[in-house]
Amino acid sequence: MSNHPDAQAFKKNAAEILAGLQGRTLSAKDRLAIPPQEMPVQDPQVRCRNMGEVAVGYCEEQARLEALRCLQCKTAPCVASCPVRIDIPGFIAKTAEGSFGEALAIVRGSNLFPAICGRVCPQEVQCQSTCTVGRSLKSLEKAVSIGRLERFVADFQRACGGEDAPALPRATGKRVAVVGSGPAGLAAAADLAKAGHSVTVFEGFHKPGGVMVYGIPEFRLPKEIVGGEIEMLKKLGVTIQLNFLVGRTRALKDLFRKDGFDAVFVGTGAGLPKFMDIPGENMVGVLSANEYLTRSNLMKAYDTEHADTPIFRARRIAVLGGGNVAMDAARTALRMGAEKVYVVYRRTEKEMPARAEEVAHAREEGVEFHFLENAKRVLGDEKSRVTGMECFSYTLGEPDASGRRSPVVVEGSEHVLDVDAVIVAIGNESAPLLPQTNPDLAVTKRGNIVVDEAGKTSLDRVYAGGDIVLGAATVILAMGEGRRAAASINKLLAGA
Ligand code: FAD
Ligand code: SF4
Ligand code: SF4
Repeated sequence: MSNHPDAQAFKKNAAEILAGLQGRTLSAKDRLAIPPQEMPVQDPQVRCRNMGEVAVGYCEEQARLEALRCLQCKTAPCVASCPVRIDIPGFIAKTAEGSFGEALAIVRGSNLFPAICGRVCPQEVQCQSTCTVGRSLKSLEKAVSIGRLERFVADFQRACGGEDAPALPRATGKRVAVVGSGPAGLAAAADLAKAGHSVTVFEGFHKPGGVMVYGIPEFRLPKEIVGGEIEMLKKLGVTIQLNFLVGRTRALKDLFRKDGFDAVFVGTGAGLPKFMDIPGENMVGVLSANEYLTRSNLMKAYDTEHADTPIFRARRIAVLGGGNVAMDAARTALRMGAEKVYVVYRRTEKEMPARAEEVAHAREEGVEFHFLENAKRVLGDEKSRVTGMECFSYTLGEPDASGRRSPVVVEGSEHVLDVDAVIVAIGNESAPLLPQTNPDLAVTKRGNIVVDEAGKTSLDRVYAGGDIVLGAATVILAMGEGRRAAASINKLLAGA
């Protein structure tokens, strides 16, 4: 239980309300009258200079009270809005009665990484978007906090000493290689191991976890949480081979020919950063968000006592983009000591793809937003070090193919933003190595691997899923893809 002052006050309040409800049979009206439980968070002025998790997490009393808000709807629209179809009313009912272990077992039936998804899933556009409570109270924000409850039951069990690995079936003698250890690869590996196959995950980096470890910062997703979920995978007998780049260390085809694997799952993600292609972008002080976040998260540049990873330190930083990656880069820049951080986005806040909660947290921490602006060129001194960024102002025109109104440059609106670093966070493209080294592997124009409805690629016994297929997507969608492909591989090997 956190010692944070908000957390203590929220706990006391929830305990009092729970005591008043004790022994009563609750009507729908009673449930709708229970106040939504706020998530305790670190103070913005304190947290903007530390890497500790921003959201502290529910205590037991808050979790039970929040769970009592659920109407246990027969149709449960929330379930259909969850990409992995968790039995949401089922796990929430167990949470309400305080049977947290049973609640977690229900979640685990569909979602292998509840502590992660409970933290980073965009719940407001998925499970919580259709919640009857939110609809009845005419406020999406008042929907049952499904993600927070999911996080709570997973965290509670970990604090109680963790879980036992599920019993495994007899070994099949079949071997499957998983390329990439992001959520797609790890989810595939878990389901393949549970079917009795011998599974090896090959990861190019020196730590497993994909974007969950190198991209999403510690203050949103502590690496200890990801590590805990990976330990569970090891308990299932999965081998993780690090510093192993398939396509370089070993050719994809050699995984079959030389190493004797029976099938391969490719979950190599979308880790190739895009740039603006504007003058001055090669100056010292222009970085991709990927590089910046990888240095900070994976290489621990923020932990100067234990790591000597170099990272570009600047006083005034502009971050280009409006998605979660831009928010993560901007908030990391504050924590790395920047005095001013500007997010420069060419549409308005309404069109921003970042989660509303992340935008609100960034603003509370002091990030300044420059909407309807974008970079024209980066300015530098005689040593090519960034000294500023010339921007255009924009207005919004007609909707484009994505349905969002397109930004239109205001002619003559050039103005200079005084910055000494620019972080580019305008999106990522698919990892190119495997398509480049396997000309027979069919890819789309954007470089995403093409798969059929079973997750199979154009190559025999090679399946794929996650961002490498979808383009930059979400953790839960990547996991769902990994599980779909694993089911197909299990079917293939059962008949082999
Ligand atoms: P990845 O997570 O990218 O993992 C791929 C792995 O494959 C990497 O570890 C890579 O090193 C490895 N690899 C690549 N090529 C090879 C090779 N040839 N051989 C061996 N290994 C290889 N999603 C959310 O749901 N919520 C969020 O809040 C959120 N925030 C994000 C913030 C940032 C900064 C970023 C970048 C993404 C965010 N996402 C978020 C998106 C989400 O993280 C991704 O959609 C998800 O991680 C994709 O999973 P994946 O398994 O397909 O790929
Ligand atoms: Fe909601 Fe994500 Fe959990 Fe599904 S996995 S219930 S979408 S938080
Ligand atoms: Fe509970 Fe909301 Fe799902 Fe209904 S829609 S079962 S109230 S979480």
